[in-house]
Amino acid sequence: MIMMDERFDPHDSNLGKDKDFDRIIRPQALGDFSGQDKIIANLKIFVKAAKMRGESLDHVLFHGPPGLGKTTLAHIIANELGANLKVTSGPVLDKPGDLAGLLTSLDEGDVLFIDEIHRLSPVVEEYLYSAMEDFVIDIMIDKGPGARSVRISLNPFTLVGATTRSGLLTAPLMARFGIKFALEYYNTSDLEHIVERSASILGIGIDGNAAREIALRGRGTPRIANSLLRRVRDFAQVMGNGHIDLEIANYALDKLNIDKRGLDSVDNKILSTIITKFRGGPVGANTIATAIGEDQGTLEEVYEPFLIKEGFIVRTPRGREVTELAYRHLGLEHVEDGGDDKTLF
Ligand code: ADP
Repeated sequence: MIMMDERFDPHDSNLGKDKDFDRIIRPQALGDFSGQDKIIANLKIFVKAAKMRGESLDHVLFHGPPGLGKTTLAHIIANELGANLKVTSGPVLDKPGDLAGLLTSLDEGDVLFIDEIHRLSPVVEEYLYSAMEDFVIDIMIDKGPGARSVRISLNPFTLVGATTRSGLLTAPLMARFGIKFALEYYNTSDLEHIVERSASILGIGIDGNAAREIALRGRGTPRIANSLLRRVRDFAQVMGNGHIDLEIANYALDKLNIDKRGLDSVDNKILSTIITKFRGGPVGANTIATAIGEDQGTLEEVYEPFLIKEGFIVRTPRGREVTELAYRHLGLEHVEDGGDDKTLF
C-alpha cells in the first residue's frame, strides 16, 4: 500500500519558495519557454502587432492549474514589450484605494500582473472594469451628502490576470480580457527540456535518462519537476559526486516517495476514494469532493484534469469512473462481478 502521508507534497508551502532558485531559472523570453506551443506562437504575434502599432497589448488572462507558467508568462510579456511589470494578487488588493494607487502609478504600456484574480473582492473588481476598458477610474470622495466622484485618467496599460479557477471569474471581468489562454499540463519531452535547462543554468550535470525520469514524475508541471531536480541534486551531492545519473535519480525519487506516475497525495486519495468508497464509480464530483474534504471546484479545475489526461479517470454522463490503470497504480485488484464492481484488497 502507498504511504500517502509520507509522499512528496507539491502543495508544500516551501515548494518553489526558494526565491533565488526561482529567479535564476525562470525563463525571461518567449524563446526560453518550453511547451505551450500554441500559446507562445500566438503571443509572439500579439506582442509584435502591439509593438508595431505602438499600442499597449490587449489584456491577457491565463488560466490553468498551479505551477504551469502563468506568472512566468506575465514576466515574459513585460520583457518582450520592454515594459515595467508590477505584480500583485487578488487577495492583497482588498480596498479600492489599493488598486487605485497601483493603477495611477503605471507608466504608459506597463504590465500589471494580478495573480489569483478570481479572489478580487467585488468592489475592487468593479473599479477594474473602467480601468481595463477606458483607462479611467472614478474615485468617490467624501461620504454622505457631500460625496462626489472624481474621474482619474490612467496611462494605457496591459493587465495580465492569472487564475487556477476560471469557473469563479465573473462574466463582466472575463469579457474584458481580449486574450485568453488555457495552460495545459506539459508532456514528458517538454518537461525533460525544462529539467535539462534548469540543470544547465544551475551547473548541475545530469544524464538524459535521469532528466527524463524526473520529467516523468513531475506531474506535467514545471514547478514540480524543478523542485524534484533540486531534491535529487541534494542526494547526488551528498551520496555521489554531484552528477545526476539514472541510478541516483531513481534512488532519490524513491527515497522521497515520489509517485512513479507523478501523482500527488491528493490525486491518489481521489483514486482510492472512488475505488474503496464508490466501487470505482460512476460517482459525482460533488460526492468525491465531500468524501476527500476538498472543494468541488478545486477538484474539477486543479486535480481532475491531470487524472483525466493521464487516463486514471474518465468523465461519464453519470459521473467520474476510475480506469483499470487506477486499480493497477494503487496495487488494487478490480473484479467485475455480473456488472457489479467489487474491489478486493
Ligand atoms: P504559475 O504562475 O502558473 O503557478 P509559475 O510561472 O510560477 O507558475 O512557474 C512555476 C515554476 O516553473 C517557475 O520556477 C518557472 O520558472 C518554471 N516554469 C514554468 N513554466 C516553464 C516553462 N515553460 N519553461 C521553463 N520553466 C518553466
